[in-house]
Amino acid sequence: MSDRARQLLHDVFGFESFRGSQGAVVDHVIAGGDALVLMPTGGGKSLCYQLPALIREGVAVVISPLIALMEDQVAALKQAGVRAAALNSNRTFGDSLAIERQMRAGELDLVYVAPERLLTPAFLDHLDGCPIALFAIDEAHCVSQWGHDFRPEYLQLALLHQRYPRVPRIALTATADGPTRKDIVERLDLAEGRSFVAGFDRPNICYRVVAKNSAFSQLLRFIEAEHGGTGGGQAGIVYCLSRRKVEETAARLREAGYNALAYHAGMEKAARTENQHRFINEEGIVMVATIAFGMGIDKPNVRFVAHLDLPKSLEAYYQETGRAGRDGLPANAWMTDGLQDVAKVQQMVLASDAPEGQKRIEQRKLNALLGFCETTRCRRQVLLDYFADHLPEPCGNCDTCLTPVESFDGTTVAQKALSCVYRTGEVFGAAHVIDVLLGSETPRMEKLRHDQLSTFGIGKELSKGEWQSVFRQLVAHGLLRVDMEGYGGLRLGPDCRPLLKGETTLALRHDPQQRKAKKKVAAAAAGLADPADEALFQALRQRRLALAKAQGVPPYVIFHDSTLVEIARYRPGSLEDLSRLPGVGQAKLARYGDDFLSVVADNGPA
Ligand code: ADP
Ligand code: ZN
Repeated sequence: MSDRARQLLHDVFGFESFRGSQGAVVDHVIAGGDALVLMPTGGGKSLCYQLPALIREGVAVVISPLIALMEDQVAALKQAGVRAAALNSNRTFGDSLAIERQMRAGELDLVYVAPERLLTPAFLDHLDGCPIALFAIDEAHCVSQWGHDFRPEYLQLALLHQRYPRVPRIALTATADGPTRKDIVERLDLAEGRSFVAGFDRPNICYRVVAKNSAFSQLLRFIEAEHGGTGGGQAGIVYCLSRRKVEETAARLREAGYNALAYHAGMEKAARTENQHRFINEEGIVMVATIAFGMGIDKPNVRFVAHLDLPKSLEAYYQETGRAGRDGLPANAWMTDGLQDVAKVQQMVLASDAPEGQKRIEQRKLNALLGFCETTRCRRQVLLDYFADHLPEPCGNCDTCLTPVESFDGTTVAQKALSCVYRTGEVFGAAHVIDVLLGSETPRMEKLRHDQLSTFGIGKELSKGEWQSVFRQLVAHGLLRVDMEGYGGLRLGPDCRPLLKGETTLALRHDPQQRKAKKKVAAAAAGLADPADEALFQALRQRRLALAKAQGVPPYVIFHDSTLVEIARYRPGSLEDLSRLPGVGQAKLARYGDDFLSVVADNGPA
């Protein structure tokens, strides 16, 4: 590792050492090599091209698909004293010309640009006259049709190599399974380069799936127990499937005292943009959204992502939950899962008019998702297995690790449930079938004469809640189907025969029955145990917000929460002390050091 790179890592970015493969990538790119970098969100991809950009001669050209992301990165770089700019539709013609002139004069270290603009003949002509340090292709999975954000312009980026064969290119992404990765290498012509593939694990995210009974109250209890409730001031995202549910949930959260906003594709663009802007620039907002929200959100201190409805696939789940805890501090991914949800997603696949092959892929993806929900194994192991990334030991930071789930031989109860569905004519929903199993004397029971059935009252060994969990699992396993077009009646699935005949067995999970959520300390971001440290942390956050507002930038480009946590913990007394903390480079030290030191001095421990 060159001394110069290490020096800049410290002076500009305020870090003592490289993380994972960062050092190797930086070396390789400084030496002029091409690279594909695959790192999970929060892994530290930006540094892999930002540092070489400072060391190599000329300007680094960063291709980025989203304006919001560019602006964020440029704001953060400027705070660190780096000469950076973004060329996009936010710039006036005059500003663009000025930036281009600076590029030619070698007065900029990095320029972010959208692919459409980069590929215009005029811009390429302009580039011909600039010293270029490197090309960084961010969100490189956009080049692949396999990925989820295919962008045709990305395909033309291969021409960079032909036009500028001596300029190193570095492609970066957080989401690329095997086929996508191969696609990136082929389409960007990177075969000669090196691949740096880090694992997919996001160790700071705690994964949890709970059986749904009353989703909204469960959500409230979760935020109270884990994120300090309305007083915690923690930012989170709540995903719902429908626009209506988004509106409704946001309204109910506001009623409960939360600073909650809505985001979905049906809103006026201006309102949507405004809400997104507030989420990024203010603290402690809970964003309730459809999956339309999230692309280009780089906010590092999102402390939780909650799903009130099932995501589309495990990839989608990984991506959506991945928006939590980019700063590496503890974060939660929390999801509720119920019979209706499972039925809904099953139905979407069954009803899809995609060609047979496509449908089979969708079914497999769905099975993987449901398998994840119903697993008794470590959730992280199941998730990483799916991405062919092996985790040898259970993680200790997911619900199944923290409170191990027992499985039991569910063969007999499953047989009872299936035959009860059959005897009642395969038209009733779970609620009534469970009443039959429990032998409940409801008026409906008498009217239908279901109290005469042989299956009436044969299921008293389980409670209603336990039966609900059994039915959800039977649907997830495809042994039961829910008729979504009619009244939601349950039908036998095509594969239930062997089980009914006793030729196969079935293991089911014991869903932990609702316990009172134990009140955890309303831990702030990093779980500062000492209340005095916590108070200081909050005071530091307030100062940061004020400084950010004054400049019109998001708070996290000034300092990340992780830096504030360190300040609260170590209480630096001098600029020199402060400069040793992670994330404090020289530019920020000079600009903000005294400000934050005075907050420390004013908030001494009692
Ligand atoms: P990605 O683009 O991979 O999602 P970022 O580049 O945004 O990740 O980095 C994620 C976080 O990690 C940021 O808060 C960044 O400041 C921090 N970080 C990056 N590299 C290091 C390092 N070497 N040491 C400490 N923190 C780092
Ligand atoms: Zn685990």
